[in-house]
Amino acid sequence: MKKFKSLLTATAACAALSVATLGSSSVSAANTFISIGTGGPTGVYFVVGNSVCRMVHKEAAEGRKSGRKHGIRCAAPSTGGSNYNIGQIGAGELDFGVAQSDWQFHASNGSSKWEGKQQSDLRAVFSVHPEPFHIIVGADSGINGWDDLKGKRVNIGNPGSGQRGTMEVLMAAHGTSVDDFAIATELTSSEQSKALCDGKIDAYGYTVGVPNAGVAIATDGCDARIINLNSGVEKGLVDANPYYAFATIPKGTYKTSSADVTTFGVKATFVSSAKVDADVVYEVVRAVFENLDDFRKLHPAFANLTPAMMTDDGLSAPLHNGALRYYQEKGWK
Ligand code: GLU
Repeated sequence: MKKFKSLLTATAACAALSVATLGSSSVSAANTFISIGTGGPTGVYFVVGNSVCRMVHKEAAEGRKSGRKHGIRCAAPSTGGSNYNIGQIGAGELDFGVAQSDWQFHASNGSSKWEGKQQSDLRAVFSVHPEPFHIIVGADSGINGWDDLKGKRVNIGNPGSGQRGTMEVLMAAHGTSVDDFAIATELTSSEQSKALCDGKIDAYGYTVGVPNAGVAIATDGCDARIINLNSGVEKGLVDANPYYAFATIPKGTYKTSSADVTTFGVKATFVSSAKVDADVVYEVVRAVFENLDDFRKLHPAFANLTPAMMTDDGLSAPLHNGALRYYQEKGWK
């Protein structure tokens, strides 16, 4: 295929190329609209989804000039997050989505929240940035560790979000129930920082890439702090589960980051369904990797992404055939 690129001078070669690369579904791929589930509008998933669309549209525009047309149109709306996206992909309502590596694992294996609802058509496409799990606490909340959350007003996240699921796992591991909190709210990621700064809650849990503008609203806006989660409980979770790893939120990330914060975290991953056409997945993957330098510049959390980590880390569902085809062509698989 790389050879074809240098031949893109004659119209005949262009026509041959589009048939060769898109196969028999070139006509449908030429008019395909895809939707990518993200997360809250202030999160990093929203940037992932819209950055993927940007690369897809860039390739489409270049293809119109060079004759290598894919014609895919893409939208990446804000959604409830990881588990919502996985469910909607399963229902055929979304074609792609961003999801935490822990929820990709559980949905694909039918474990945890997905017990009895195994998503056997769920497919891994690539992974993106690391997402440390944050507990963010009010400046004057007096909360310095997990045990101090008892009796406090804690946002556990909206149902369907990845952080809600991971918060529940962490609560179970610590033997904490919602009744241990003064109130457990279910605010979305775009509501929680304002609620903290307005004094409506004392703390919230959030799984998100670093740095994040939504977190900065609380840390830089009202001196909220991020606490360490590095007890034996988190060590137990990391040791027992392949999709968790210890993570650091470096000193200096936010206004109140006066020291490194140690916590555990997951990877953000890009997923799809076996029911989504392999030619479409191939084109989306190709658009991202052929433009990886541009992609990396679209958010600081993407700066260190490499094909080696993106095609391996945090992927537990089977790779989508369309993605695998591209990775094999590149010699990565
Ligand atoms: N990890 C969060 C979730 O799964 C979303 C984070 C973000 O929007 O960047 O719901």
